[in-house]
Amino acid sequence: MKPCTVLVSACLLGQNVKYNGGNNDNPAVHAFLKGKRIIPVCPEVLSGMPVPRPPVEIYEGRVVNEKGADLTAVYQKGVDKVIQQLTKESVDLAILKARSPTCGNREIYDGTFSHSLIPGQGLLAAALTKLGIPVLNEKDIESLMNR
Ligand code: SF4
Repeated sequence: MKPCTVLVSACLLGQNVKYNGGNNDNPAVHAFLKGKRIIPVCPEVLSGMPVPRPPVEIYEGRVVNEKGADLTAVYQKGVDKVIQQLTKESVDLAILKARSPTCGNREIYDGTFSHSLIPGQGLLAAALTKLGIPVLNEKDIESLMNR
């Protein structure tokens, strides 16, 4: 039987691709992925942004930095690359980092850089949802694995 293929935020696998140069290595995600085929991606790095890079949030549907510069087109480029990759290899599920302006699947920061969360999705999570690919975050996986 073909193994389940999972698209995963690279930072959840321990890759140092976060805006601050760190990662979000997650043991529950590693455990869940055992025996599955993994496609790690960091759409922000794929967009050409460096590590580290200034933080961004989504404000009224646009990706902005703390100075208010609109970086939507730049960040969209990385998302488009991931979606393009999925025309060559299909995935059954995505596990993406919660609350990220790119990867967040249910809530995101509100664009005021005041740690305020609102319901919403990051750019990649929204694009995958539109394609009908189920998107979970690391908290969902922790709940599943701790059952
Ligand atoms: Fe992790 Fe996604 Fe942010 Fe990359 S864009 S660091 S994969 S949350």
